[in-house]
Amino acid sequence: MENQKKVLVTGAGGFIGHHLVRFLKKQGYWVRGVDIKEPEYSPKNEADEFLLLDLRFLENCLKATEGIEEVYALAANMGGIGFITFHNADVLYDNVCINANTAEASKKNGVKRLFYSSSACIYPTYKQEETNLVALKESDAYPADPDNEYGWEKLFSERLYKSYGEFYQARIARFHNIFGPEGTYDGGREKAPAALARKIALAKDGDYVEIWGDGLQTRSFCYVDDCVEGVYKLMRSDFKEPLNIGSDRLISINDMLDMVAKIAGKKVNKKHLLDKPQGVRGRNSDNTLCKRVLNWEPKVSLEEGMEKTYKWISEQIKGVQ
Ligand code: NAD
Repeated sequence: MENQKKVLVTGAGGFIGHHLVRFLKKQGYWVRGVDIKEPEYSPKNEADEFLLLDLRFLENCLKATEGIEEVYALAANMGGIGFITFHNADVLYDNVCINANTAEASKKNGVKRLFYSSSACIYPTYKQEETNLVALKESDAYPADPDNEYGWEKLFSERLYKSYGEFYQARIARFHNIFGPEGTYDGGREKAPAALARKIALAKDGDYVEIWGDGLQTRSFCYVDDCVEGVYKLMRSDFKEPLNIGSDRLISINDMLDMVAKIAGKKVNKKHLLDKPQGVRGRNSDNTLCKRVLNWEPKVSLEEGMEKTYKWISEQIKGVQ
């Protein structure tokens, strides 16, 4: 349709990106997806157009943003705690290039509005040293002391996109551990929920399932459908500051494993690997500002979301066995 608004999703071959493409199509947009790889778990023709481009380069960001009114900037070189702990230079170089060039190309091509996916990893280490921590408010970001380089780059890029505010409207969300089906579940880039679901799917009753750290570390987990809905609501709002998008239900990794085992109907034992990276001790989202600004908060329960995620991952594993 001629009058359809044209939007771009970068990182559309990735987990949240392809869920967002599907959501935006349902809202009636014309969607261009761009990634360095094709979507692994969904057809690439879910987007009206899908371009394979390396967004570390300005000329490719210019191609990606040509004729586009709104950009959802999700492309990033990232993975779970193991990956971001051991690939600092790649993570910093790639993500600085992707974001600097996406920001500049959006300006050059007259984009009107841009969404940037920041992360709870920007929050300072000194606020996350207890398992039973006080949930993180947006204003806790400074004085800055992120736990890893990935978080430092996210914090820098929040500032980068904000500084382009005179050229286009920028909206920024800090995602807190997004999970769900159709995402990476093995190979080293997977996050804790997908890794736990994979390990349980492969386990038999009585097996020992490995957990990184003592398992007492705590997190909150937000289901991907809630995440994309929150992104869209933020994009349509007039709120210009970074906003948490996450669940405010705190759970330890040990309890999360028990939950997945119960969903799977399996009785397993835990084996704690104390020499593996486990990130900060505790992290939770304070949703006060989100509720006030968007009149919304995530609604899918962890049990419901994990059930869908476990089902999808166990089907994938059966499919390759
Ligand atoms: P993902 O790894 O599945 O998706 C990122 C996509 O970016 C990948 O498909 C990757 O191929 C693409 N990409 C990497 N380098 C590129 C390049 N040079 N050019 C073009 N594309 C490139 O990750 P995700 O979980 O879908 O995360 C999406 C965004 O949300 C990322 O910016 C991530 O940092 C952020 N985020 C995610 C979470 C989470 O829990 N999943 C939490 C906080 C922030």
